[in-house]
Amino acid sequence: MAVRPTVIWPDARLREPTVEVVEIDDSVRALYQDLCDSMYAENGLGMAAVQIGDNRKMFIVEPKLAGFTDKDLPIAFINPVVLESSDDVQDSEEGCLSFPDIYIKVKRPMRTRVRALGIDGKLFEISGEALLARCLLHENDHLTGKLLVDFVGPLKRQMIKKKLQKVKDAIAEDAEA
Ligand SMILES: [Zn+2]
Repeated sequence: MAVRPTVIWPDARLREPTVEVVEIDDSVRALYQDLCDSMYAENGLGMAAVQIGDNRKMFIVEPKLAGFTDKDLPIAFINPVVLESSDDVQDSEEGCLSFPDIYIKVKRPMRTRVRALGIDGKLFEISGEALLARCLLHENDHLTGKLLVDFVGPLKRQMIKKKLQKVKDAIAEDAEA
């Protein structure tokens, strides 16, 4: 159980191919716990394993957003598959823990349906609308190496890169101090 440092873009680990989880064992449960601790430490709505430097196909979503209460545990999505997405879209600003303080307008389907394995090893399906659909598709993108900067042009991407390099330098300096 530990808060792990969030991998911030540009970092090659965010583009690494992800691997299927073959068995829900202690190491997967430990990863889930670290993901929960790390997401809550950053006040995130969701977090993918690649964002804490683990390339297994897994992400979590904050329980309230997923239709549960804040007393419930975050929902784990292991080896998720997007079953369907609506043709009607939503277009609003999106953030990402790997892009601190960066918000980008991203067009996404208004509704989606995802199937995944839970942390209990059972297959489940969830339908999401609006912000939940956005969150599910955003986290699922992480498992294919797709990132917020893939939705902007080269100029804006360069600007974001400069800004985040400064953030990363500041974190490195703090670690040295
Ligand atoms: Zn993200």
